[in-house]
Amino acid sequence: MNAAILSIGDELVLGQNLDTNAQYLSRHLVSIGCHVVRHQTVGDDERAIHSAIDCARSVADVILITGGLGPTADDLTRHAIASVMKVELKLDSAWLDHVRAFFAGLGREMPESNRIQAMIPEGAKLIWNHNGTAAGIRATLNGSATGGASTASSDSRKVELFAMPGVPKEMKLMLERDVLPVLAKMSGGRTIASRALHSFGAGESTVAELLGDLMKRDRNPTVGTTVSSGIVTIRINARAEHPDAARKSLADTESAVRAKLGDLIWGSDDQTLPEVVADLLRHGLADTIQADEGTEATTVSTAESCTGGLLAQYLTSVPGSSTYFHQGWVTYTNLSKTMCLNVDPHIIERNGAVSEPTVRAMAEQARALADSDIGIAISGIAGPGGATHDKPVGTVFIALAAPRHTVARRFVFPGDRATIRDRAAKTALAMLRFHLIDRPMPF
Ligand code: AMP
Ligand code: MG
Repeated sequence: MNAAILSIGDELVLGQNLDTNAQYLSRHLVSIGCHVVRHQTVGDDERAIHSAIDCARSVADVILITGGLGPTADDLTRHAIASVMKVELKLDSAWLDHVRAFFAGLGREMPESNRIQAMIPEGAKLIWNHNGTAAGIRATLNGSATGGASTASSDSRKVELFAMPGVPKEMKLMLERDVLPVLAKMSGGRTIASRALHSFGAGESTVAELLGDLMKRDRNPTVGTTVSSGIVTIRINARAEHPDAARKSLADTESAVRAKLGDLIWGSDDQTLPEVVADLLRHGLADTIQADEGTEATTVSTAESCTGGLLAQYLTSVPGSSTYFHQGWVTYTNLSKTMCLNVDPHIIERNGAVSEPTVRAMAEQARALADSDIGIAISGIAGPGGATHDKPVGTVFIALAAPRHTVARRFVFPGDRATIRDRAAKTALAMLRFHLIDRPMPF
């Protein structure tokens, strides 16, 4: 069953408000096995809404509309639906009485403008709003704009249209009470099971190459990728008649994806990279370390230059971080590196602040001074200035000092200052993760 979502409002097309309704609706539609084929945002213009409904009805079995059901002159969704249906608006006196009673309850008389909210297209049904004065509308359309049986191209499919209020709280209640149950029946019980697997360290195209045929568009479950702040997420959606079958085929594809990407995948669904690292610091690796109640957390301290404390922020963003995080230094100048961390000034003089020897010394000193199991240090050139011939903007050294050894790596991150700083902090988290799971870094 194909669905199209229309979001109505000048504030949306003008960029003043973000269309969050469409995202919310899509998530719910997908969960009941609906195939969402279109999102469209339309201003408060009757002809534009009419034409959007016409476009949607040619590709969808269900059209969900939010917005434009208020009492003011710019609320034109009901008019557009009536004109698509080629009918007049007619009064629903039960709803008018309800709205009058609502105002009476506030000790006020209903403004005359609210009367329009009790007008719905002839032949349509009113959907009760338990949270406000904008009632919803349910109507049945033909699949094509021409509608009549006279044209050869006419589409005899029935398309169900649901118009709901724009106010998210009102829309959500109406969706759950009155719309989703109908749609779940219409979709014939087909369900979808979804999983998001998160990776870091390889670009989206590299991940796609590794996944190969798993990303073919015509397979079920589908496998797609999205990228946000350096994290490439692999999204698996399995469709099946029954939830068990959907879950089984999801699990099979998840195993196949994991087999291709290996340690690049650090977590799934709502997990964040700092949470996963925090879990490893607190409990060790569940399968290899016997984590009994008394297991002590692995403790960590940080020394940062170009990231200005971002790594410490990530590490402490997780509740209960005091069990594993000891201390962090932001040592931005050469002097602060020697004064606060006791880094030998000759190391900095000989190699520069952005160098492997300096970052090693910072990590080892952070570990020793804070009496932690692990010290991590970052020093780099976040730009836009500060590049040298052999150290372009984006050059970052990261070191991890553990009880028996220190490892250091040089990276060159692309992007602007904020991106370079964020990639550097996340890469340090990733290094920490690979150290904790005792695996080599695959990038
Ligand atoms: P309306 O039903 O058009 O009167 O919308 C009422 C209010 O709901 C608007 O002023 C917005 O603040 C909010 N709203 C409408 N459409 C959306 C949407 N698609 N996403 C988020 N908020 C919305
Ligand atoms: Mg509006």
